Amino acid sequence: MTMLRPQDRAGVSPVPTMFSAPYWEGCAERELRYQVCIACGAANHTPAAVCAACDGADLQWRRSDGRGVIHSWTVVMRPVGPDFDAPYAPVIVAMSEGWFLLSAMIGCEHTELSVGVEVTVEFHPIADGRLVPYVRPVR
Ligand SMILES: [Zn+2]
Repeated sequence: MTMLRPQDRAGVSPVPTMFSAPYWEGCAERELRYQVCIACGAANHTPAAVCAACDGADLQWRRSDGRGVIHSWTVVMRPVGPDFDAPYAPVIVAMSEGWFLLSAMIGCEHTELSVGVEVTVEFHPIADGRLVPYVRPVR
């Protein structure tokens, strides 16, 4: 069995945009951020200029509590490149604030993945030193 762990050799690096820069600045401070629409209250992610629910243009950044449950997952046995260690497990997490985070599971065996597993976010560096969010089961 192989414990799922961060991809510290991964050479794929996020490129912040004018909309996503606050998200990545939060990650650099080990703070998970998402947008909330002032008009309708919807939580929004990925970062955007307007609300996905009502097209409202007044979005405010909030700090997430970093907790959620697995909404969907998969296990990758054949890595996309030589700098990824397999297996790894991309997951979609339903965050407690009502938004979805695309991340990867760490700290458990891939056989432990299941919809509804409670997780918490933690940050680990990729090859360029940038911190990215991973999730780990709450024990
Ligand atoms: Zn809205």
